[in-house]
Amino acid sequence: LIELHDVNKYFGELHVLQDINLTVGKGEVVVVIGPSGSGKSTLCRTVNRLETIESGTIRLDGQPVPDEGKALAKLRAEVGMVFQSFNLFAHKTVLQNVSLAQVKVRGRKKDEADRHSRELLDRVGLADQALKYPAQLSGGQQQRVAIARALAMNPKALLFDEPTSALDPEMINEVLEVMQQLARDGMTMVVVTHEMGFARSAANRVVFMADGRIIEDRTPEEFFTNPRTERAKDFLSKIL
Ligand code: ATP
Ligand code: MG
Repeated sequence: LIELHDVNKYFGELHVLQDINLTVGKGEVVVVIGPSGSGKSTLCRTVNRLETIESGTIRLDGQPVPDEGKALAKLRAEVGMVFQSFNLFAHKTVLQNVSLAQVKVRGRKKDEADRHSRELLDRVGLADQALKYPAQLSGGQQQRVAIARALAMNPKALLFDEPTSALDPEMINEVLEVMQQLARDGMTMVVVTHEMGFARSAANRVVFMADGRIIEDRTPEEFFTNPRTERAKDFLSKIL
């Protein structure tokens, strides 16, 4: 579904993505881990064309990813993104947050969008919070709204960049549980996270990055029980 082939990206002198080859099949869950600064966020942003690349190709469903205009807006609707900071519209209600882009980008009627939004809010356990404003919710609830908002576009895939890193510990599980359920429902997901429990239980593959390269790309069992590289062993010894 998502294919990156020999992707290279620079920030000035910094070669932040080096010859990245990565394929994510339909329904696959790929967890991306690695040290700070290794390029994980840049990789996610690149898939969505929030960053330009210097060379290589990115395909979605076999089609080259457009780099501007209407086609790009459509692509962004096909590949949802959930960030560490929930990025909700503060002056809109939960329901409006989830409905807005459905009307603007997907061209749905408002009542149709609202009905869909309410179903999704129910799915993330927030059916009773629809008319509140983001500031009236906990961090975990806000992140679940952000997930509902991403789902509202009926995306082909979802990218998560450290979705639980900004949350208090007691709220992490409620967000991971929603993500686990999405994985079980067959959603294609790329997840940057330090939650190794999630990686073990939900991921089909673990991709380990260091210095802008993919160093390992293996099943969770293989990766956690028998990391091949010193970098990965060193990383795991620090976080497990
Ligand atoms: P973390 O675990 O801390 O989130 P990361 O693996 O997500 O790290 P990136 O955010 O992708 O890492 O950053 C990779 C490298 O690119 C870092 O050295 C970072 O300083 C640099 N970088 C990121 N964004 C920019 C930018 N807009 N301009 C210049 N350099 C950047
Ligand atoms: Mg990051």
